[in-house]
Amino acid sequence: MKKDYLIRAMTINKEIRVLVARSTELVKQAQQAHQTTPVATAALGRTLTAGVLMGSMLKSGKEISLAISGDGPLQRIVVHANQYGEVRGYVTNPQIELLENELGKLDVARAIGQGSLTIKKDLGLKDPYQGSVPLVSGEIGDDLTYYFTKSEQTPSAVGLGILVNPDCSVKAAGGFIIQLMPEAAEETITQLEENLAEIDSVSKLIGQGLSPEKLLEKLLVGFEFKILTEREIEFKCICSQRRMKRLVSSLGEEDLREIIEEDEQVEIKCHFCNQGYQFSKEEFEDILATNPKEEN
Ligand SMILES: [Zn+2]
Repeated sequence: MKKDYLIRAMTINKEIRVLVARSTELVKQAQQAHQTTPVATAALGRTLTAGVLMGSMLKSGKEISLAISGDGPLQRIVVHANQYGEVRGYVTNPQIELLENELGKLDVARAIGQGSLTIKKDLGLKDPYQGSVPLVSGEIGDDLTYYFTKSEQTPSAVGLGILVNPDCSVKAAGGFIIQLMPEAAEETITQLEENLAEIDSVSKLIGQGLSPEKLLEKLLVGFEFKILTEREIEFKCICSQRRMKRLVSSLGEEDLREIIEEDEQVEIKCHFCNQGYQFSKEEFEDILATNPKEEN
């Protein structure tokens, strides 16, 4: 098994920033955790890959969240990532039917439908940053490109690719984000546009087993560049019995009583990784006893 990792690079002229990731193993884990069918795997996998790349641009200890809401069968995709290469996420309907477009490719756009993309970042300020744009394609990469340009005023290109085997397992996954710095010269922009026009689809390149370094070389043909960071990335949740207990405690007294009356043992599953946590009737009674009583 090859470890997943991302690299962050900058051209020597400091006009282009690039992030590239191989995310095969983390998308595999997400597919297994959520038992996603191929279109859902592609949609969630692309969002996870974008999330982990965007997370790496954050300052320490903070999180970024991406939420895609659409009127298609997938409904909603939510991804949280931090700057340490850890990402988690889910899709509301992981087991939708296979959707293919006229080219025989997984039709992520149709699975998502019309809707919006919302990014939230905790920047350590009083209120978290929030930016939202309507979906322009539903293919996620293009929607993020639009988001960066519109909401963050940073001209960018985002490429995301997930390849799924006929048995529903993940064959390969990866992606990139390229951003132009404000002082970028006209020649830089022209050269970069040529490179992007020349390049094969990300899924194809990743499927050929191209490493992030090789992908970076293809993206930055004609530029001198330096790799600034290399970091392992993984699908990793932050849930625990304690966190779940806190979540349960936040339910209203009435809801808690109802659960206790129905079952001796309750399993609560984490949305983000599908891990189940068991709570006995006694534990629920405990929570009820220690919870501050609701007024009236
Ligand atoms: Zn979890």
